[in-house]
Amino acid sequence: MDEEYSKKTLESILDTIPEYIFYRDLKGRNIYCNESYASDFIGKPKDKIYGKTYEELEVLRPYFNIGKVRDKEVIENKKHLKYEQTISNGKEKRKIEIDKYPIFDDDGNVDGILGIIKDEPYKEELSKLREGFFSNIRHEFRTPINMIMTSIQLLEQRCKFCDLGNCKECFVKDIHRININTLRMLKISDNFIDLTNIQSKSMEYKPINYDIVSTVESICDDINRYKKFKNISIIFDTQTEEKIVSFDKAKLERIILNLISNAIKFNNYDGSVIVSILLESDFVVISVKDTGIGIAEDDIDSIFNGFSNVEDRFTKICEGCGVGLALTKHLVEMHQGTITVKSELEKGSEFIVRIPNIVNVNNYVDDISSRVYDSRLERIKMEFSDIYE
Ligand code: ADP
Repeated sequence: MDEEYSKKTLESILDTIPEYIFYRDLKGRNIYCNESYASDFIGKPKDKIYGKTYEELEVLRPYFNIGKVRDKEVIENKKHLKYEQTISNGKEKRKIEIDKYPIFDDDGNVDGILGIIKDEPYKEELSKLREGFFSNIRHEFRTPINMIMTSIQLLEQRCKFCDLGNCKECFVKDIHRININTLRMLKISDNFIDLTNIQSKSMEYKPINYDIVSTVESICDDINRYKKFKNISIIFDTQTEEKIVSFDKAKLERIILNLISNAIKFNNYDGSVIVSILLESDFVVISVKDTGIGIAEDDIDSIFNGFSNVEDRFTKICEGCGVGLALTKHLVEMHQGTITVKSELEKGSEFIVRIPNIVNVNNYVDDISSRVYDSRLERIKMEFSDIYE
């Protein structure tokens, strides 16, 4: 292998590496760099980089001081050094991870520095997500706990100082507040447990062949019977009176309750919520449509991701830590179904769930375990506990 051939081969191998690689001499002059470093990091062809120092390359000038200090450390200590740095191209900041290695000559003296730079795009995003998530969670639990504690203190005061006979109304209000706030905390922890169970694949899917139309209709009826939030009645509309398909009743109930509670939560007073069912050849389509605040185009892709409450913590109008839709999506997917959303800001949103139009042979069971009605009222109370009117 002649020298030219091996140098070329080596260079083209290094050019395929996405990390940014460079080699500098002791005066800080660039002797070598790979293609990623030249085109993506510096933004110049290699021949405009070779021989140039930090100061001479405009992109590197802001990092001249810190770069020099780090280079000196590598040369003096004769040791590899790793550090992180935030850099900016004027528009956006990004974090990079830099490895610097001393390269020695035949006498064991440092001859130059080999640098490898990696982008860290996700680390920063992850830490932001984590920060936002914990502050949301803290708020989400603290608010109801504060409300419960205040109500208990009020009850204590009334027991000590009031004529109890006249306090019935206040007692009922205090107890209601305790109840609602306990349900709010229960909802958050239930959603977390379910999401974790789904992710660890320990949630069981128990489909039965049953009438999906009457199931969805009875959920709407039960919500209307329970309470009219923001003066909104749920309107149910269907193309077909009965449709037997295979689905998990308890899970479908969670899906529909979550979508309807969001449709109310993010709606205006006197708005409307329409739940409709129509048939496609391969799917039963359930649509939950509202006339609420809508979702910005940029946020639509992230709302099913979990912890994606798209509102700013301090300006948001509703409670919730953005777990409900992530859970709903998983539950729909357990049915081999899909969930999509169409939305326009200030006009409203429509969530569309497609459940496969299939029936499992000999699978019709309506035993006690498949009936979820006994607990439905509790579920409704819990699911709607974070709607403020
Ligand atoms: P949360 O517990 O915050 O309600 P979800 O996962 O149910 O969590 O929803 C995630 C986010 O998606 C909500 O915080 C809200 O910003 C947005 N969203 C969900 N449903 C609607 C809707 N019907 N109208 C407007 N925004 C919605």
